[in-house]
Amino acid sequence: MYRKIIVKLGTGVLTKGTRFLNQPQMVELTRQIAALHHQEKELIVCSSGAQAAGRARLRFPELPDTLSSRQMLAAVGQSRLMLMWERFFEIYGIHVGQILLTRADTENRQRFLNARDTFSALLKHRIVPVVNENDAVVVEEIKVGDNDNLSALVAVLTDADLLLMLTDQAGLFTADPRTNPDAKLIPEVQTIDDSLRALAGNTHSSLGIGGMNTKLQAAEIACRAGTDVVIADGSAPDVILRVVSGQPVGTRFPAQAAPLENRKRWILAGPAPSGRLFVDAGAAKALRHHGNSLLPVGITAVEGEFERGDAVYVMEKDGPNLARGITRYSSADLKRIRGCQSHEISQRLGYGYGPVALHRNDLILLE
Ligand code: GLU
Repeated sequence: MYRKIIVKLGTGVLTKGTRFLNQPQMVELTRQIAALHHQEKELIVCSSGAQAAGRARLRFPELPDTLSSRQMLAAVGQSRLMLMWERFFEIYGIHVGQILLTRADTENRQRFLNARDTFSALLKHRIVPVVNENDAVVVEEIKVGDNDNLSALVAVLTDADLLLMLTDQAGLFTADPRTNPDAKLIPEVQTIDDSLRALAGNTHSSLGIGGMNTKLQAAEIACRAGTDVVIADGSAPDVILRVVSGQPVGTRFPAQAAPLENRKRWILAGPAPSGRLFVDAGAAKALRHHGNSLLPVGITAVEGEFERGDAVYVMEKDGPNLARGITRYSSADLKRIRGCQSHEISQRLGYGYGPVALHRNDLILLE
């Protein structure tokens, strides 16, 4: 049933909660991935653990908690991490290929398509891509930030059928299972809404960056792009094999029935929005119920600085994000033409890129 599968492995799973990468655990995960690979499935590994490996390799140096410390640890650790994956997959006669991404690598459509081609080429040659964020060079502006969201980006890039996020918990619970004995596992989530987000809260494990909230963000993106998502316990016996064979393990998020088309998937997962457009009730209604484009006349305020072609959020005043899209005008232009009728645009600016601020083909509703 699932053919293209991403297995996302958090630091907590790879270290089994210790300060060291746990090699028997990694071999065990490799064994399961290899078994699926040999059933003609396409496997992609999204592996954390670079910084943990670097820290262990340097014997836990006392470092300030700065970006350059993390970059240094990742630079030392990433090659160690790959060396291990390379060795473990070799046991099963499988080649691996390293892909290190940052958000900047998917920010424009061309780069997004290039990255997509790299995955396709590896998979076509039966090589297992092992992906991580390029932590050694990443800075705030261009990073994805956590490997949960990174794995969702990979799901969008590769049109995966399943994103399996393995963690140190059995899945998503009705309350924090570490503090509440009545907490129950939620076997399936149909819609990710505010109450679920509140439930996931800010559970941070001690070693990884992602908690349940970043897992939900990732699940939301991947499901909209047409990928099933499962969150499960990476140490449970045969967990990967059981999930892939369709057994009810962990928490499952079924993919949206009508997935977004390709360009919209890129809008969802590629460029990070750099501004916000506030719209009036009429424009919000036109977007929400009629699938219209956003016209300058409906824009009441513009926040942030962005260029034509950048991603922005659209919202009503005090409301949640209503849509996300690619703007046809820069923030400077929109500040001058907000509230204008479309025919007034070129009079105001002395030039124009057409009557709409955000075309409906370039936006996705977030509700
Ligand atoms: N990219 C980081 C690492 O390999 C991990 C980020 C995360 O776990 O979310 O160390």
